[in-house]
Amino acid sequence: MIGRFGSVAQLIAQESPETPVHLLRPHRLAAVARQFLAGFPGTVLYAVKCNAHPLVLETLAAEGITHFDVASAMEIRRVRESVPGGVMYYHHPAKSPSQIALARDMGVGFYAVDCIAELEKIAAIAGLDWVPMVRLAIPKGTGAVYDLSTKFGATPDVFVATLQRAAQLGLKPGITFHVGSQCLDPEAFRLGIKLACECIDQAGVAIELMDIGGGFPAYYRTTDAPPLATFFAVIEDARQRLAAPRGIRLACEPGRGLVAEGGSLLTRVNLRKPDSVYLNDGIFGGLTEVYWGKDDLALPYRVMDSAGRPRLGPLAAFTAYGPTCDGNDKLPYALELPADIADGDYIEFNLIGAYGREMAARYNGMSSEAVAVIEADFAGHHQPEP
Ligand SMILES: *Cc1c(COP(=O)(O)O)cnc(C)c1O
Repeated sequence: MIGRFGSVAQLIAQESPETPVHLLRPHRLAAVARQFLAGFPGTVLYAVKCNAHPLVLETLAAEGITHFDVASAMEIRRVRESVPGGVMYYHHPAKSPSQIALARDMGVGFYAVDCIAELEKIAAIAGLDWVPMVRLAIPKGTGAVYDLSTKFGATPDVFVATLQRAAQLGLKPGITFHVGSQCLDPEAFRLGIKLACECIDQAGVAIELMDIGGGFPAYYRTTDAPPLATFFAVIEDARQRLAAPRGIRLACEPGRGLVAEGGSLLTRVNLRKPDSVYLNDGIFGGLTEVYWGKDDLALPYRVMDSAGRPRLGPLAAFTAYGPTCDGNDKLPYALELPADIADGDYIEFNLIGAYGREMAARYNGMSSEAVAVIEADFAGHHQPEP
């Protein structure tokens, strides 16, 4: 942590950072957390893989989000350190024996499974004092940018058989699914709840908890999705019609939709050429996810000069290269930048609080752990700070 600053301009003026800086805006994390807590009709978990920084976990916990979706020893330890009383759900459906034993010893009570083999593996290690969260695969084509049901999740047949086996063992299973990340269509959640309820009826096993996963969108420049409130309204309607009559409570486990807005990335122009810029971070660093999401993850950005003053001149299209010597290290879309952008200027990319710092590699000896807190809002695409 390099410090807390009133604004990005202040950070630049004081520090002139030459390595990328991951900026956190705890007040924005808190505001979105309150939106989820007020709007979602059930328990809100946080998917730690999006951003495991202690300040993120602590900020969410202070607002009342104290349940966490974790998938590794590091994430489990991080939650234990940052939120000692936090409730953890080990929602990775393919675990090794030592990972299960560690989770058991750290008091993790909920474990995702998507087949009978994983269920029996955990029972052999952790006994019967845990809740299996049986994961259902959701058919593709429900409006998400990333499909999260090709790799994990049981087909309805396997799902039903796994629920029945859990009940046979004397466990009380819950169920979970994930509609896909950056889901643009709230109806995907209704379809998921409906499919899950049909399978539960078929299994004939009593279910108390249905975790409808993450997938809530962040609002990138190209995102055409209704506001979070619409997602919550559709989910509440489905809860009343489908889940509540069966005695089922809901949970969700957002990552992106909860924390994307709470972080941005401050990069520096190391070299400007006539129609390209060479930045100090790229697709092997804090901008990794842009490589995968391309135009669907069009990040808002703005430019400041080396003293932190906004550059607001007429725009021109630039190719943006990252710092490594790898030819692939290039942003997948052109940036519209002030035509007078110069060496030593800064570009701040917003909505990188999820899947930013966590995905960064250290390729070519280039990585940055620098984190700073910013008290002002991101002032908008190409806009100066207030
Ligand atoms: C990644 C992940 C999430 C978070 O997904 P978002 O699309 O970022 O909300 C939630 N649950 C599981 C099991 C995940 O793997």
